[in-house]
Amino acid sequence: MEPEVVQRPPWYVEPNEGESISHYFGRFRRHEAVCVSSPGTLSKAAGIGPVLARWEKFRLNPVPSQKELEAIAKLSGLDADKIVQMLPPKGEKMKLEPIRLCAACYAEKSYHRLEWQFQSTVGCDGHKLRLLSECRYCKERFSIPALWEEGECKKCHAPFRSMKKRQKVY
Ligand SMILES: [Zn+2]
Ligand SMILES: [Zn+2]
Repeated sequence: MEPEVVQRPPWYVEPNEGESISHYFGRFRRHEAVCVSSPGTLSKAAGIGPVLARWEKFRLNPVPSQKELEAIAKLSGLDADKIVQMLPPKGEKMKLEPIRLCAACYAEKSYHRLEWQFQSTVGCDGHKLRLLSECRYCKERFSIPALWEEGECKKCHAPFRSMKKRQKVY
């Protein structure tokens, strides 16, 4: 038997391992076949309330309903459980602010990891480095990952990857 080929819409964007929902939907909205600048428009197109704007800020209370997940999944060509993987597991508390970064991880693959926003996460286990919660050059806080288009500080434009030299060991 032929292996089943999954048909993806032209606007399908593959999620990265451990990518946060905010970063993923920022990328998705900027995809050339989507080009939707506001998360509200996307929610509306999916036929649900303006929940995506909240999700992109990690405001997940109330928790996303199955109906909302399926509507967004259908629109984006993802499976609903792929979206669930971009959300914190049950019992894991999220830190809404500040947005945090392991610049060493970012230098390897440029996306925001969900686990950086867990309250229980202190540092990056892979690199044994503390997470950054502000720009190491100008001290500006990081914007929400949905807006990480250039991968740089929004104020002084220092690239995130360059900040790994200034991360503290933990
Ligand atoms: Zn790291
Ligand atoms: Zn800066």
